[in-house]
Amino acid sequence: MDAVEALNEIGYWLERSLASSYKTKAFRGAAAALTGTPIDKVASGELKVKGVGETTLEVIREALAGSVPSYLADLRDNAQPDPEHSLRLRGDLHTHSEWSDGTTPIELMASTAQWLGRSYVALTDHSPRLRIANGLTAERLRAQLKVVATLNKGFDDFRILSGIEVDILDDGSLDQSPAMLDKLDIVVASAHSKLKMPRREMTDRLLGAVRDPHTTVLGHVTGRLVQGSRGKRAQSEFDAAAVFAECALQGVAVEIDSRPERQDPPDNLLKMALDAGCLFSIDSDAHAPGHLGFVALGAARAEAAGIPADRIVTTWKLDKLLDWASR
Ligand SMILES: [Zn+2]
Ligand SMILES: [Zn+2]
Repeated sequence: MDAVEALNEIGYWLERSLASSYKTKAFRGAAAALTGTPIDKVASGELKVKGVGETTLEVIREALAGSVPSYLADLRDNAQPDPEHSLRLRGDLHTHSEWSDGTTPIELMASTAQWLGRSYVALTDHSPRLRIANGLTAERLRAQLKVVATLNKGFDDFRILSGIEVDILDDGSLDQSPAMLDKLDIVVASAHSKLKMPRREMTDRLLGAVRDPHTTVLGHVTGRLVQGSRGKRAQSEFDAAAVFAECALQGVAVEIDSRPERQDPPDNLLKMALDAGCLFSIDSDAHAPGHLGFVALGAARAEAAGIPADRIVTTWKLDKLLDWASR
């Protein structure tokens, strides 16, 4: 087995289980350190490489000896199976890279999405005011667009869609210039601050974002957290019927954020959005390659809520998706 692939796959399974990023980094870091290095010399101990420690060295040696490293085999054996569903998920419209608060380069996110059978994935790093998440200024976003265009030249049946997860500001406007938003395939608009705003203000704020002609997806609409290292957080209060009616009117997809911590929106609101005639986008909100498979959780929830596949934009083929996104 290829040693770099083994290390990256270990990273994948650790990320998928939401292991600490410290642990995951050891394997992702070793994989990156080995790229372009004579691996046999590292394995023999002839060459010392920064970032390759005892555990990772053992993985490298076992891979070079032709077997699946035992560390990897254990992770594969003990992985929780994905929730079952029968949707054919072609894409994912909400993912992050190390350009904002994700943990890996864009290339690794893209190759993992391909490995999982996706045909497109939107790169939606954070917007400037989310400084805590290293949000991209217009200048950095412009630079990222060039990187994405170059990467896309190397794919046959896969595409990275340009995008942003743009903060919804207090007044409902979006945290990036209209000129920049115009350049993007996908605009996921999400609220990340002042989630406890009074109901009326929060309703106006979300309606403002949905009415912005740049918005394609309304991200993790309630902001709730149901489990995980960040603890729990209650839903924001807003007039969901009004917000979903506006989403249906504007053709904005309501995101089903599949992260185990979020599972947003909750079931009763999924049903309400379905009845309102909304479109949906089942997204991973991945911050690492191993999170890209979370969409299975969202898909199982969508199916349980009775949402038909044709209302889920991430089951659409790329052409149809792009027609809708550029509407
Ligand atoms: Zn977000
Ligand atoms: Zn996000």
